[in-house]
Amino acid sequence: MTFDYDLVVIGAGSGGVRAARMAATYGAKVAIVEEFRVGGTCVIRGCVPKKLYVYASRFKDQFDIAESFGWQVDASFDWPTLVAAKEKEISRLEHAYASNLEKPGVEIIRDRAEVTGPNGVRLVRGGRDLTARRLLIATGARPFIPEIPGAEFGISSNEAFDLPALPRSILIEGGGYIAVEFATIFAGLGVDTSIVYRGDCVLRGFDEDMRRGLEAGLTERGIRLIYQTTIASLAKPGDDVLATFSDGVTAPFGAVMFATGRRPNVDGLGLETAGVKMGPDGTIVVDQYSQTSVSSIYAVGDVTGRAQLTPVAIREGWYFAETVFNDNPLAVDHSLIPTAVFSEPEIGTIGLTETEAATHGDIDVYVARFRPMQNSLSDRTERMVLKLITEQDGGKVLGVHILGPGAAEMIQLVAIAVGMGADKADFDRTIALHPSAAEELVTFKAPSYIYRNGHKV
Ligand code: NDP
Repeated sequence: MTFDYDLVVIGAGSGGVRAARMAATYGAKVAIVEEFRVGGTCVIRGCVPKKLYVYASRFKDQFDIAESFGWQVDASFDWPTLVAAKEKEISRLEHAYASNLEKPGVEIIRDRAEVTGPNGVRLVRGGRDLTARRLLIATGARPFIPEIPGAEFGISSNEAFDLPALPRSILIEGGGYIAVEFATIFAGLGVDTSIVYRGDCVLRGFDEDMRRGLEAGLTERGIRLIYQTTIASLAKPGDDVLATFSDGVTAPFGAVMFATGRRPNVDGLGLETAGVKMGPDGTIVVDQYSQTSVSSIYAVGDVTGRAQLTPVAIREGWYFAETVFNDNPLAVDHSLIPTAVFSEPEIGTIGLTETEAATHGDIDVYVARFRPMQNSLSDRTERMVLKLITEQDGGKVLGVHILGPGAAEMIQLVAIAVGMGADKADFDRTIALHPSAAEELVTFKAPSYIYRNGHKV
């Protein structure tokens, strides 16, 4: 049987673009179909613009401590300037992504695609049918908005980047990555910011010291934390959005944002028609090579729900192309993924949390807490935290958790050592770099405390 293409990719985000480029490099005839903008969530309305806004918001802290170093700063902020500069940069990246696809010969089709069978795709706007030996679903995820009365008066991170003006105040629901990152962005830009979260401390699943340290940092920046509460309904009687909370309290906000998780983009894709097996949460079920229950259809990235992170999607797309188009089967190891939260303070983490590690066996925990040197001349009280968790008596490093300036950059490099199976002696052998915060990781002497038989000693 002959096909129009060797591969049709649906979705030109991080995973889809990498897979399409690699497959074309290996000689496959490839088309990629995208209904929005090339680059996907990460480039257009995720990681990249978010990090730019994080940079923008961090000037506030810098201005605050500048005086302690002798500077006099008279600063003001203009939101439209930031939005326009962001748009210029993501447009540049979008064009770079498109040209990187076109160089190895990938055809970009700007349309919405629906799967019609194991080897078929229909272009909705163009009304055309395509056939392909293999299909790759890389459609990502979209914000989940709780079904409450008046939910339409709230926004998600998608809209937050392009608000016509900065609101005077904002209420953000959720306690995950997006909630704390956007809370610190808005607070840094001068917006009166509140987080409402159904749990009892932000970032469930992270190491407790990171969670508590971040909580203190958010509070120090004036962010209000409303715990064990949800938004019951929203209304818009005037300019403000009126939130009614689960405890009956009401309050007006300039804007309300939902950061309540993301769901796979599978609606109307026709996957059921093709017989693709889906998980109970709507994710596409795949094996270690990203193959679905239909042998000609593969899926990578957020739509598979393995880890909603750009570098993971990229790796899955790359390994898919290696496996299918380069006769080199490779499976992504999802067990040791470094991650960062670009909140203020920032968090970087790899491996097991203290709680997780303590349930696996006897462990030693080394913790350093100190004021970051850049704050030492000011009256800021915030503490940096570096935590190293090892098997007992200087064994293998099981987890590293960092809260404070530069945490993301540090953890990316620590991840190499942890991935290589480094033990405490490998860290100890490394000569410290002084003065730095990271030197704490290689100068720990005795453990701060230990766990034996699951109990803290
Ligand atoms: P998260 O899963 O991180 O957090 C979702 C939050 O919403 C949780 O606190 C959750 O509570 C809460 N929540 C979920 N459903 C409801 C509900 N019905 N009512 C009230 N609260 C609810 O998702 P995000 O949206 O923050 O981010 C999505 C994903 O994107 C992240 O998991 C991450 O993988 C990725 N991401 C990564 C970033 C990075 O690498 N820096 C940055 C941004 C996003 P509970 O804790 O109780 O479950």
